[in-house]
Amino acid sequence: MKTSKKAAPAIIVIFGGTGDLAKRKLIPAFYNLFLDGYMPEKFAIIGLGRTELVDEDYRKRLNEGLAEFSRKGAPSEEKWVEFNPNITYCRSDIDDAQSYKELAEKLDVFDKEWGVRANRLFYLSVAPRFIEAVTVNISESGLASIPEQDRIVIEKPFGHNKETAIELNKLLTRTFQEEQIYRIDHYLGKETVQNILAFRFANALFEPLWNRNFIDYVQITVAEQVGVEDRGGYYESAGALKDMIQNHLLQILCMVAMEAPASFAAEEIRNRKVDVLRAVRRFKTDEVHHYAVRGQYGEGWVEGKKVPGYREEEGVDKRSNTETYAAIKFFLDNWRWQGVPFYLRTGKRMQEKTSSITIQFRPVPHSTFPESQGDSLTPNRLTINIQPQMDIRLRFMTKKTGLEMSLNPSEMVFDYDNCSTQSPEAYETLLLDALQGDATLFMRSDQVEEAWDVITPIQEVWENRESLDFANYAAGTWGPETAEALIARRGHVWAINSHKKSPAK
Ligand code: NAD
Repeated sequence: MKTSKKAAPAIIVIFGGTGDLAKRKLIPAFYNLFLDGYMPEKFAIIGLGRTELVDEDYRKRLNEGLAEFSRKGAPSEEKWVEFNPNITYCRSDIDDAQSYKELAEKLDVFDKEWGVRANRLFYLSVAPRFIEAVTVNISESGLASIPEQDRIVIEKPFGHNKETAIELNKLLTRTFQEEQIYRIDHYLGKETVQNILAFRFANALFEPLWNRNFIDYVQITVAEQVGVEDRGGYYESAGALKDMIQNHLLQILCMVAMEAPASFAAEEIRNRKVDVLRAVRRFKTDEVHHYAVRGQYGEGWVEGKKVPGYREEEGVDKRSNTETYAAIKFFLDNWRWQGVPFYLRTGKRMQEKTSSITIQFRPVPHSTFPESQGDSLTPNRLTINIQPQMDIRLRFMTKKTGLEMSLNPSEMVFDYDNCSTQSPEAYETLLLDALQGDATLFMRSDQVEEAWDVITPIQEVWENRESLDFANYAAGTWGPETAEALIARRGHVWAINSHKKSPAK
């Protein structure tokens, strides 16, 4: 668990230090940790890239990135002067052993200067095809020779199916111990996602209700308003199932459905999460169409602007079979959740950007109130809004003020906007955890492999059978009509209005 104590001296090496992720997320996260007093007393950030750059120019680029992307805005002169000498740049070729020798010499210089062997955090902010070269070279040059002190952070995607994920894990564990490997899923660092654990396990109120006896269904929605932007080429080989469901949405499902851990220890929490993935019912190939719906956006209107369909985006095949939308009805075969559907959906070019979890409780067993004296009783609903709106809302029935006994749904709301402290960015939380050696919010190899296993039947069917109805939803809508039908079979509807500030009817 994170502490406010200063971490030991650390050297952070960013492979891909000139890339988009470093500028947009990593450096702003380290800088904000520095401002908040969480960075070690002694630290160094070494950016690696192919470009020839002197330190000054590299720092200038990062400074511009802070102005554009940091939640705290452009750095003040005073703070930047304190922070930027900790950053250096090294031109390096990922495949060249000599680059690693030079890096090793550089790290030794810091250790000598500080009089202590610093912890080392190697951040692989590069395309997955480079992971092998980096890990083999790190190993051969002895850069990460102390397992208790040296860690490696790997970005998604972790493979592109179960087999490649297993291969990747084997490759990593040839060089590193599992405890050294931090597979990052930035969704898990979000304040609202972490709060699911606090909400569930720090309150006695909800846990007795958190099961099949009281919960009717669960919905997890991650909707994006953007299309594929300039990543059409990448997205063609990804799609909504692999890009979102396999990682972010299944991880949220784990937080909602897991049993109470005995302690907050990383392994304990990760064990409980992997139990959930093991319990997810696997579909047979001929059942996939019954449980899963795919979609691809056609042209449409988003916020008053006409936008092209997916097949018209740059880098996308005119006959593309890649799904930009997925909705899946999962079941968990265990005592707590037997028979409760977990509806997961995600899509691009949806009507609104929103990520939320809806826990729909069962209706009351018998209505005491005549229909004529109020709305029909609306079942209780708990909504956890993850982003951009960040709140937790509990819907319950109340009496309308007045002389008659008439009923109305109302809401109790915990709104992050009312908190005095600004929420940290997910990368701040996760990078601090990595510096402090806390792997709770990172994915263990078995979690990754189980998550791939869960989606494998769907993936195989979708990849091997062309969809005949693409594009089947217009940009700026809530996805294909078949997704409504998927959950209507049980009389359910998507809680698309649950994220509105006004009480949902
Ligand atoms: P990018 O293309 O912007 O940057 C790639 C970096 O790799 C550059 O610094 C480049 O110099 C370096 N590089 C490429 N080939 C090299 C070589 N042969 N030798 C040395 N360096 C080389 O990519 P990015 O957007 O920063 O993404 C990096 C990783 O993070 C990818 O795996 C991506 O999937 C993942 N990721 C990125 C984001 C994001 O917001 N950008 C979000 C989540 C995950």
